Amino acid sequence: MQLRIPGPTPCPPQSLQAMGRQMINHRGGEFAKILESVTEKLKQAFQTKGDVFLLTSSGTGGMEAAIVNTLSPGDKVLSISNGAFGERFADIAEGHGAEVIRLSFEWGKAVDLDAVEKTLKADGDIEAVLATHNETSTGMTNRLSDISAVVKKFDKLLLVDAISSLGCINLPTDDWHCDVVIAGSQKGWMVPPGLAMVSVSEKAWQAHAKAKMPRYYWDFSKAREFLQKGQTPWTPAISIFYALNTTLDLMLNEGLNNIFARHARIAQLARNGVKALGFSLFPEEDYASDTVTAVNATDKIDVPKLIQVLREEHDVVIAGGQRKLAGKIFRIGHLGSVYENDIKLVLEALTKALPRAKKG
Ligand SMILES: *Cc1c(COP(=O)(O)O)cnc(C)c1O
Repeated sequence: MQLRIPGPTPCPPQSLQAMGRQMINHRGGEFAKILESVTEKLKQAFQTKGDVFLLTSSGTGGMEAAIVNTLSPGDKVLSISNGAFGERFADIAEGHGAEVIRLSFEWGKAVDLDAVEKTLKADGDIEAVLATHNETSTGMTNRLSDISAVVKKFDKLLLVDAISSLGCINLPTDDWHCDVVIAGSQKGWMVPPGLAMVSVSEKAWQAHAKAKMPRYYWDFSKAREFLQKGQTPWTPAISIFYALNTTLDLMLNEGLNNIFARHARIAQLARNGVKALGFSLFPEEDYASDTVTAVNATDKIDVPKLIQVLREEHDVVIAGGQRKLAGKIFRIGHLGSVYENDIKLVLEALTKALPRAKKG
């Protein structure tokens, strides 16, 4: 089967085999070695010298952890958003009592940096900025280095959802001054869902020291305290650690720059392929993502039918649109374990399935 959704993504055999191992004591020396090894390798992938913690949860748990560890109820937070995941980040902050200023741009359209700058200039009380690196719902990558440059002009805390980009698209956490960066195991890491990874900068620790949002499971202080003993505060998803320890070796052997180049090459193949079939991309083309391609379905294509035919007759699984984009776009995920041939197969299947998915 070709699982071509933007997460969960296919796990290579080494990852699946690693997970077949027996359980171990998560408070013992063997787990400590694995945790230390995974953490060290993740720091390389995050391109950070700061802290990186592994939380047993999906990516959204990591987003919530970023918020509750750095903010207090009533804090003003600027949300920069141009899609469903940007809105989720804002919703989480609001749900925990932050006063969220929503700077929302049209889905699929670039972030207006002047608007970001104006908002930060107009309101000196803003404590933190929420940004999405790769907006999975619209298949677009925001220019995080540019966003960060504006945010850091005002010395604000920058919290970044990089769940569908980290490990696939370049994101030098320290060079771009990102204070908390969130990743999720089932996206680019070639392992199942179950772990969120978060980096924490020195500035984020300073914010943490005065942050008053209620927290327990997510508490970064506890994570740091336990990591020093080679443990996590709570029982971790041990099997995913086995897998991640293995796939991080695969990734570091391939080399981060080679991985980024492979994703760029494959994404170009996907974009060229759908355009050759007469489709246009949903996002502004200059911002099209290297991990997920979002395609305008046009009013002639029945998206649920297309997804059904691909799945039932071609063993290819793609994604539809989320929320207001349901029925309007379809999305091809190409992150993690993905190679030229996978996209070729998807495009061939798409070519065959399209006549069956025509409306009317
Ligand atoms: C997948 C994804 C999430 C949500 O992750 P879950 O693991 O489903 O909680 C958040 N943000 C982005 C950009 C994503 O792609």
